[in-house]
Amino acid sequence: MFRLLNRVKFGSCASYSTAPAIPAPETTPAILYSGIFINNEWHRSKSGKTFPTINPSTGATITDVQEGDAADINIAVQAAKNAFKLGSPWRTMDASHRGVLLHKLADLMERDRKYLASLETLDNGKPYAVAYAVDLPASIASLRYYAGWADKNHGKVLPMDGNFFSFTRHEPVGVCGQIIPWNFPLLMMAWKLGPALATGNVIVLKPAEQTALTALYVAQLTKEAGFPDGVINVVPGYGKAGAALVAHDEVDKIAFTGSTEVGKLIQQGSGTGKLKRTTLELGGKSPNIIFKDADLDHAVESAHFALFFNMGQCCCAGSRTYVEDAIYDEFVERSAARAKKRTVGDPFDLKIEQGPQVDEEQMNKILGLIKTGKTQGAKLVAGGERVGDKGCFVAPTVFADVQDNMTIAKEEIFGPVQQILKFSQLDEIIERANNSDYGLAAGIFTKDLDKANHVIQGLRAGTVWVNTYNMMAPQVPFGGYKMSGHGREMGEYGLEAYTEVKSVIMKVNQKNS
Ligand code: NAP
Ligand code: MG
Repeated sequence: MFRLLNRVKFGSCASYSTAPAIPAPETTPAILYSGIFINNEWHRSKSGKTFPTINPSTGATITDVQEGDAADINIAVQAAKNAFKLGSPWRTMDASHRGVLLHKLADLMERDRKYLASLETLDNGKPYAVAYAVDLPASIASLRYYAGWADKNHGKVLPMDGNFFSFTRHEPVGVCGQIIPWNFPLLMMAWKLGPALATGNVIVLKPAEQTALTALYVAQLTKEAGFPDGVINVVPGYGKAGAALVAHDEVDKIAFTGSTEVGKLIQQGSGTGKLKRTTLELGGKSPNIIFKDADLDHAVESAHFALFFNMGQCCCAGSRTYVEDAIYDEFVERSAARAKKRTVGDPFDLKIEQGPQVDEEQMNKILGLIKTGKTQGAKLVAGGERVGDKGCFVAPTVFADVQDNMTIAKEEIFGPVQQILKFSQLDEIIERANNSDYGLAAGIFTKDLDKANHVIQGLRAGTVWVNTYNMMAPQVPFGGYKMSGHGREMGEYGLEAYTEVKSVIMKVNQKNS
């Protein structure tokens, strides 16, 4: 995902202005779509209700979005079911043509990159330079990657004993409910659309209530790309649509990215009524382990980036920074200085590294956890408060002397708050790193490859970064151990969640048999 950050040199805010090809944003992008998208058409909610979507930089309402609930979800599911019928344009389409359509969608997002990045910044608050240089190209790359898989996800011929011809078919699962989070609205949508469409599924997608606007615009682009009616349906909602999707008996699969709390509800909900497959990408409290032999400048900057990227709103944020005792004090001092230099403000300003949190609820949750950190005795060495009194801005915050049993070392903060803990022994640190309900990601900084390999094997996490952090690519799977979820997104492994395997066994009549 964030490989492109290398090019914009994210660590140095000044280099935004020197990075090539980031055009000026549209600070007031036109709001073209705020309805419910079903069967390639725009609809109002059956209930007549709407909900406001807010600009988190100012607190102002951007527009009112149609509020889908069970009735709208049902219509969307029926549309998807129709699109999935045998003989439909989607089911009779050549697999290679599904790839062509995904490429077209990627082309359209490329065409509208500046607009989409601006809209994402307006609705979500993330810096426009990041939306433009990271979220958009990473989303487009993800769609293109899965476009390539459309005619390559094939079965096998099996050497079955006896006079039989046996083979497997890789078939689509059917109606897929996809619930998208607000931290990377476009990217998480692309991660879910790509594999589902490449493998021939149909979709009812529910964007996060905080950030529905880019999903709705992309819905219109899917129509322009030429996807048949009903293949992709997008139903925004506020408190009822997600559960209705999970409860619907004609939905075959749910893919969710979000909190572990809601992930558990979804897992339970998918087990009532007709069973559904689920893939869950949930929270994290990822350890980032800095050994004393690491390149200190690189480790400080990388640990800063590991936590503060996207206002700390990353499921894989390196939110437990474990530092070896010999370099602990210097690491803390440098990390605090780096955090104090972090630029916070208007996300449309190209020089800004950090915009607002996504909404007031998240900001207040973060401020509450900062208070808990102070009360429980962690040492505040940077930040610790809200910035200004308008919008949802939180100062880049660093806590030192954090102990494993403190709330801020255990709970996902999902904000710009770094916890720095101390360790002294190799085996101690593996055990402490694993002592969490989560297991999404981990980082290791060392020049000693033997040590790195030992720790890689010991860590119970879906992704381990060595001497880097947050680097992702469409070819590489992503997902969690333990309470961080199950199933993998991206890469060849990401196809599995959207594929049913059918075994075919055919009797072959032979002479004399
Ligand atoms: P959330 O709890 O993760 O999920 C909200 C989404 O889930 C909405 O789309 C909602 O749809 C749906 N939903 C809620 N209850 C449901 C149910 N019982 N069945 C099916 N769907 C349901 O998001 P949040 O409240 O905005 O964030 C809470 C915390 O989640 C954050 O503080 C952060 O720690 C974590 N988070 C993690 C990620 C990640 O990338 N893993 C992303 C975002 C947030 P309705 O509105 O229709 O109910
Ligand atoms: Mg918003």
